[in-house]
Amino acid sequence: MADASLLIRGGRLIDPASRLDAPLDLLIEKGLVRRVGPDLKPPPRVPVLDAAGLVVAPGFIDAHVHLREPGFEYKETLATGAAAAAAGGMCAVAAMPNTNPPPDTGQRMAEALARAKGSLVRVYPIGCITLGRQGGALAPLEELARAGAVAFSDDGDPVADEGLMRRALELGRRLGIPLAPHEEVKALTTGGCMHEGQVSARLGVKGMPSAGEEKMIARDLELVRQTGGPLHLIHISTAGTVELVRRAKEAGLPVTCEVLTHHFVLTDEEVERQGAQAKMSPPLRGRADVEAMRRGLAEGVIDTIATDHAPHSAEEKSRPLAQAPFGIVGLETAVGLTLTYLVHAGVLDLAAAIEKWTWAPARILRLPGGHLSPGGLGDATIIDLNKEWTVDASRFRSKSRNTPFSGYKLRGKAVATVVGGKVVYSELA
Ligand SMILES: [Zn+2]
Repeated sequence: MADASLLIRGGRLIDPASRLDAPLDLLIEKGLVRRVGPDLKPPPRVPVLDAAGLVVAPGFIDAHVHLREPGFEYKETLATGAAAAAAGGMCAVAAMPNTNPPPDTGQRMAEALARAKGSLVRVYPIGCITLGRQGGALAPLEELARAGAVAFSDDGDPVADEGLMRRALELGRRLGIPLAPHEEVKALTTGGCMHEGQVSARLGVKGMPSAGEEKMIARDLELVRQTGGPLHLIHISTAGTVELVRRAKEAGLPVTCEVLTHHFVLTDEEVERQGAQAKMSPPLRGRADVEAMRRGLAEGVIDTIATDHAPHSAEEKSRPLAQAPFGIVGLETAVGLTLTYLVHAGVLDLAAAIEKWTWAPARILRLPGGHLSPGGLGDATIIDLNKEWTVDASRFRSKSRNTPFSGYKLRGKAVATVVGGKVVYSELA
């Protein structure tokens, strides 16, 4: 990773981890934060980035992306995925393991890390819970942890076997690494292509009921109660889940959770308008669920925001609703959606929104970064809070264009991205 030097001057620096929100300069030297203070002078030969009128935040971390390499390079590669991340203001991503082969051994995890080395942004691989993501036998979690896994997940597929999940949580507790399972009871959802509700009934397609998510989460919360293993619930999508998590946290269980950008913006009505372009798992839910996501964020029940960036080819997404694959891209719309629908809409104040993209995921996955204290990673996301822009998928850096947000007018954008003191993306003059 870059170990460059840079002075970011004149911005409004917001660092939730140290409760800073003030006009301060940020000096990065040899890839690390050296100083935060007023009126810093650039040391000799250190370039200056003028951030007047802009917000300087710790580097954003998208803790849930699919980079598709190896195995599905026609959808995305490490290079195009990292370029999309940088253009979206993300300095680091945690990559889900549904590649081919998946990182389900120490050797494969080492290969995944080697492949990602030198990427434009930091890439933290997540290891499998089960061998081959097949749900039949536990992957060697200790070996995966030693090789560098930041979490364990079979994302895309649940761990149906309760005994396996219990052992995984016991190991997660010993290793200090969270389990981040895909929570879905397949017996309730198989064949479904959208949320089960009035819209699915009207369209005459098979739905995926909220209970498909909530029942599996209830099971795993019970296993956390038994084992004390850390559970990070990814892509929660129903009002019922928010209540389950609220109660688990009140009971002191080691549980955290994530919401995706589209789940606090769109409802299942979008499937009626856009078909497969709005198909993902978990699906877009009803209006009350979207409201529950916003309330859960505001009340702190929901810890982090992520994208579940899931690139698919145009051909795949042009198939009929029932045949098209689940998932949408998200890296290049995430910051704009967060600012437009949470900050400008008055759901979260700016520091709280930044926290959910920086310090919170760093804390949960024990990643370096996520803050701007001296000695920390020299990663920063530079934001123009009021920049108005229109989502144009044809200009995405991602190899894929499958977004339901084409044509959306958003307010607020990441305009420069700094990783290890190096400017990896900039719209500034
Ligand atoms: Zn995912």
